[in-house]
Amino acid sequence: MHQSVSSGWPRAGSVRHRVACEYCDTLHEVLLLPEGKAAHCTNCGKLLYQNRPESLQRAIALGVSVLLLTGLMMFFPFISLDAKGVESRMGIVGAVVHMWEAGSPLVSLAVGLFVLGLPIFLGAGLLFLCLPLSRRRYLPGMEVVMRLLQATEHWVMVEVFFLGALVSLLKLVKLAKVELEIGFWSMAGLMVCLAGALAGIDRLELWDRIEHAKERRER
Ligand SMILES: [Zn+2]
Repeated sequence: MHQSVSSGWPRAGSVRHRVACEYCDTLHEVLLLPEGKAAHCTNCGKLLYQNRPESLQRAIALGVSVLLLTGLMMFFPFISLDAKGVESRMGIVGAVVHMWEAGSPLVSLAVGLFVLGLPIFLGAGLLFLCLPLSRRRYLPGMEVVMRLLQATEHWVMVEVFFLGALVSLLKLVKLAKVELEIGFWSMAGLMVCLAGALAGIDRLELWDRIEHAKERRER
């Protein structure tokens, strides 16, 4: 008999029957959870896993937002400066190129990779996983993308760059008239969406959904 996936997560008879508590290592049987419910450790009470409502749909929305905001951040200026009537605008891509030309190739590469490259990869990776999974479809390569997402998620440094830019801006304000442009607000929004995207979906849930979609295809 087929069990409806929408009735809960993880599905009963999941490939992953047991889960260990991260804090005290107590082993638990994985039980079916209705949407919106969470499972806690019977020993220490810490969260084991949860079935967040609409988790895939939210991850898709956040993935799209991450890509859109990164695009805006790349193609629109970050700030405009007016120093004694001379106006100039600076964007992230321009800053990366400028750092390269000014003899700081490592900083330039780091900003390009951690501030632009990784958000694009995380947004696209989330969509690659969650769009097919929302229709219970499996695509080859999902496991690899999932592992890469888990390995790289802690390396996104948009907020570090943003804070650094804020500090520099405070100094610039004394020298010139500074206006914040679309790129700046896109980066602020990107920080929020990235944090939401990374915190909003349970890793165990994604693995379980990938395995389920794969089994369905192989049946
Ligand atoms: Zn525990």
